[in-house]
Amino acid sequence: MPELPEVETFKRFLDSTSLHQRITDVEVRDSYVLKRVSARRLTRRLKGRRFENSHRHGKHLFVRAGDELWLRLHFGMTGSPEYLRHGEVPPKAARVIFCFTDNCRLAFDDQRKFGEIELIESIDEFLQARGLGPDALNVSLSQFRAIVGKHNGAVKAILLNQKLIAGIGNLYADEILFRARMHPATEAARMSDKDLEGLFRAMRYVLDKAITLKTDFNRLPKSWLLTHRGKAGRCPRCGRALKSATIGGRTSWFCAHCQKRA
Ligand SMILES: [Zn+2]
Repeated sequence: MPELPEVETFKRFLDSTSLHQRITDVEVRDSYVLKRVSARRLTRRLKGRRFENSHRHGKHLFVRAGDELWLRLHFGMTGSPEYLRHGEVPPKAARVIFCFTDNCRLAFDDQRKFGEIELIESIDEFLQARGLGPDALNVSLSQFRAIVGKHNGAVKAILLNQKLIAGIGNLYADEILFRARMHPATEAARMSDKDLEGLFRAMRYVLDKAITLKTDFNRLPKSWLLTHRGKAGRCPRCGRALKSATIGGRTSWFCAHCQKRA
C-alpha cells in the first residue's frame, strides 16, 4: 500500500514526466476510481489544460491544472502512475488515462481499485474537510511532541492515525518503531521527551531514506525490519525470531528483545 515515501516517489515521477503538456483527452476505462466527478465532467474540465505543478500531503497527491482546479490522486492499495511513450500499450489495470499532445499518456494504474481520483478547488479545504493532520515530513519536533505525547493509546496506533500525522502506514510505522527501539504497544502518554525525540528522528530518517532509495525494496538496507518482517523473519539486529501482534487494528511486526515498552 503506497505510503508517504511511495507517494513522494510518484510525485517526483509525475513531475518529471507529465507537467506542462496540453491534455488532449481523458480516457476513463473504469469510473469506479472517480469520486464525486463523472467521467464526462473530468474530461471536460481537464481537456485543453496542462498539469502545472503538484503537491503532496500525507498519502494524497494534488496536481494543479489551473486556477482553483486540482486533480487529487490517492493510490489506495495498489495504485501507481505509469507514463506511456509513443504507442506503448497501457497496463491492463489502467483505470484512467490522461492523453497529451505529443502522443504520450499518463495512466492511473490500480489493480484492486481502492484508489481515488477527484477534482477539487482548494487543497486547504480538502485537508480541513478530511481532518488530516500535518504531513509527517513537515511536522516539527515540538509539534510532534505535542501530538504524540498528548494522546492516549499505543504509539503505533497514533503513528497510523492520519488525523494526527498524515502519511505513515503499517509498514513504515513498524520500521520507525524498530529503528527507535520502541515496542509498538508502548503507551504514548508515558513516553519521555527523550523517547519522543528519538521516535521523531527515526521517523524522519526512515521516510527520507526510503524516498532517497525510491522505495525500491531491493535497495532498502538489510538492517531494516522491512526486508525481514513476516513469518520466519528474524531480527536483523539480534537474530531472534520476530513477533507479530494486532495493534491499532493492523498486524505489527517487531522484535520483543530489541523493542522495549517505555
Ligand atoms: Zn532484536
